[in-house]
Amino acid sequence: MGGITRRLVCLSLLPVLLTACSANAVGLVAALLPSPAESLPSADLPQLARYLPAAVIPAPQLPSQQPDDVMATDEPAPSAEPGEAPPPEIAPVPKMKVALTFDDGPTRGNTEPLLELLASYDARCTFFVIGSRAEAFPDLILAITAGGHTIGNHTYDHKSLKAAGAEVSVRKTNDIVESITGKAPVLLRPPYGAWHKGVAEGFGMRIVLWSVDSRDWELRDGQKAAEIVLRDVREGSIILMHDVKTYSIEGAEIVLRALTERGYEFVPVEELTGYR
Ligand SMILES: [Zn+2]
Repeated sequence: MGGITRRLVCLSLLPVLLTACSANAVGLVAALLPSPAESLPSADLPQLARYLPAAVIPAPQLPSQQPDDVMATDEPAPSAEPGEAPPPEIAPVPKMKVALTFDDGPTRGNTEPLLELLASYDARCTFFVIGSRAEAFPDLILAITAGGHTIGNHTYDHKSLKAAGAEVSVRKTNDIVESITGKAPVLLRPPYGAWHKGVAEGFGMRIVLWSVDSRDWELRDGQKAAEIVLRDVREGSIILMHDVKTYSIEGAEIVLRALTERGYEFVPVEELTGYR
């Protein structure tokens, strides 16, 4: 009875033991598997991924934003779905630069609204001033520089650089501007675009012509002048306008609005790429 009985007892216990072993095995695997709600350090994820189906790997937990941290905007906040990486930062696209230049001022009643307009478009430009007008309106010269614009020389009396006395006209204008702002202009725009090499070299100044002529003074129509600019402008253009008449300021507003929409940035002429 002894040997046979022991074997029978053992055989009868076998299903119980096997059941117990199976239960232990299931418990062990369950312990190794992370709970979906449990967050693992991200460094463990690649190693774990070799052994577990993808569905088991917990998604990295994105930091939740508290309402106080969120700035109020009209745009819906970007959704952060579980498992979705935060969007990469996109570098801003460099803007195309263009130089607006205004000649023959400053003039009372036109330069001030133009400066307000330029400020509203975050535009910085170049003013080629007449020396006698700078002398008459030093406050406007200071307002121009305060707006971040550059002041260039357009002679004292709009004299051609080819005419006798041109050098005096240029030097006098430099002195006037320097007495107002503390800085003499280094840019010189010849009236009528007429100049000769010796004049510029003699002054140690840089001659600045233009690549787009709005013809505002000739058309006497801001809309038509703006249409010429918007037709001919390219990246790096130097645009000629005037801050003498109201229609020119109206034309400038059209140009500022349209070129801003096209992605242009307005800079003083010396900041154009390749200018130096
Ligand atoms: Zn002029």
